[in-house]
Amino acid sequence: MAALGLDWPNLDAIWISHFHMDHVGGLGPLLAGTKHASQLKKREKALRVFGPSGLEDLIERFSDANHYRLLDQPFPVEIVEIEELEKFEILPGVEGVAMKTPHTAESHAIHIRDAGKTLVYTADTAFDEKIATFARKVDLFILECTYVKDKPAKKHLELAEAIFLIRKAEPKRAMLTHFYPEWDDVDFDKEVANYGPGSQVIGAKDGLVIKI
Ligand SMILES: [Zn+2]
Ligand SMILES: [Zn+2]
Repeated sequence: MAALGLDWPNLDAIWISHFHMDHVGGLGPLLAGTKHASQLKKREKALRVFGPSGLEDLIERFSDANHYRLLDQPFPVEIVEIEELEKFEILPGVEGVAMKTPHTAESHAIHIRDAGKTLVYTADTAFDEKIATFARKVDLFILECTYVKDKPAKKHLELAEAIFLIRKAEPKRAMLTHFYPEWDDVDFDKEVANYGPGSQVIGAKDGLVIKI
């Protein structure tokens, strides 16, 4: 966030979709950094961390490792464990709803509504048509697309499945992310165009900023 010039000292909220290390591991270094950052000494507003049941216990275990006391911060850290399909307030006027996904016992996709704009992020998931219903007509539909084709792991998506969900959801725009190395030598736009996705499909990359 600092390298990209983002306003990280004012970060309001974090969403944790599930407890695989590539989705939750960053919390430890982040909270270890915020404890000591001069930019945060005077911060009063809370940082809210939303996620599935078990999140608080997980963060406490990170905190206990080497006695980092990660929750002992200059500002309040609120950990909010969400209930499936129950609305929660992320910030005033920004509303979230999470739906269970077939990936791990605790994995969820999230739907965010902010001033009439909507976004769905699948996080990691196996194929499930319900995700398309959850993302119906959103402004931005962000999907994992771990594999190009012939996926070796059931609990992730490959391109044909991601495109199927996009065609069914009919979002204003879609974005694919969570690419495994088999994507490295693939011409993304050409590969996506082969499937005729029906919506604009963006390939996520580090540092990409888009306005919804
Ligand atoms: Zn995962
Ligand atoms: Zn992952």
